[in-house]
Amino acid sequence: MANNITLTIIKPYAVHEGLAGEIFDRITKTGYKIIALKQVHLTKKQAEIFYSVHKGKDFYDALTDYMSSGPIIASILEKNNAVEDYRKFIGSTDPVKAKNGTLRKIYGFSLSKNAVHGSDSDKNAEIEANFFFSGLERY
Ligand code: ADP
Ligand code: MG
Repeated sequence: MANNITLTIIKPYAVHEGLAGEIFDRITKTGYKIIALKQVHLTKKQAEIFYSVHKGKDFYDALTDYMSSGPIIASILEKNNAVEDYRKFIGSTDPVKAKNGTLRKIYGFSLSKNAVHGSDSDKNAEIEANFFFSGLERY
């Protein structure tokens, strides 16, 4: 598949613990190019919009509370087959189940504090990238 983009987020716990530098080091050494990058503190409402696909699920309120609890770092990454490869690189949603060497295994702490987000489809990668970044913020 041609070069495409995925959207990643370093979640509040990992930002707070100062892990973002190490995580981006692993990301870029694995071949992803950083197209856009910013630190933001989402409001509850913004977190609800970002995660609206999960609206109605029992973890939606806790998830959006958590994702608006502190600064996060959002980034658009570009690579061949970015979405699928990045999902493999971050590992299972639950760090306990994630394979050795994956970001969630290395840096994750729990199901909610699982260190990073990764888009699950090309369509959602576009939607998520547009949520955080304007055209002027991409290089
Ligand atoms: P992923 O981030 O792997 O794509 P989902 O899109 O299913 O996973 O869920 C979004 C986020 O919501 C997860 O990364 C995780 O932090 C949290 N989450 C998912 N399922 C649960 C759950 N059952 N209980 C608590 N938090 C959850
Ligand atoms: Mg998801």
